[in-house]
Amino acid sequence: MPVFTTNLPSAAEEFPYQLQRTPPNGALVAVVSSTQLLGTYTHFINNRTIPCTKPRDCEPCEEGIQKRFHVYLTAIRTDTFEHFIFETTAAGADPFKNYLRMVSEIRACHFKASRPSGKQNGRIRIVCKQADLTKIRLPDPPNVARLMCHIWNVPYDPADAGPSISTEVAEALAKRSNAHPKPNGEDNSTGPLRLVQ
Ligand SMILES: [Zn+2]
Repeated sequence: MPVFTTNLPSAAEEFPYQLQRTPPNGALVAVVSSTQLLGTYTHFINNRTIPCTKPRDCEPCEEGIQKRFHVYLTAIRTDTFEHFIFETTAAGADPFKNYLRMVSEIRACHFKASRPSGKQNGRIRIVCKQADLTKIRLPDPPNVARLMCHIWNVPYDPADAGPSISTEVAEALAKRSNAHPKPNGEDNSTGPLRLVQ
């Protein structure tokens, strides 16, 4: 006899969340489920984004490969209810930082991410507003750092999760040289970041 249950196992517990970026066409509309804007430097090598491991040894850094700052959060799409990890650049995260200044909590931020130019690496436009929590209920916030380590296939160390990006740090990181969209790379909407160390 089958044993039925209404308590369905969570796929998210077993499978890594899918990583999604702002699409070139249309818009990604979602509600943030995580509690922090978490970011780290990354390198783009062999068509893949990998984490920069500075201040520890980092081979790409030693080879002079540029590093860029990426911001990660989890969110639920309002069209498919898919729970996913949203990746954006430091500059792409600006509207989230402005939202944080006013609302003080990134969780439950309803956002619409698009690229008005319709180009793959076009500038990102993110419009934020507060989600109506009387109509939706958000799941517990996932551990974004752990999920990203899973995606990158690197060991997760809670000490590496680091602090959430403070407004000041994020602003410093966003101070970048003039945006020059590059023909290669995945998401170059912000242009090269100038390292702030
Ligand atoms: Zn590095």
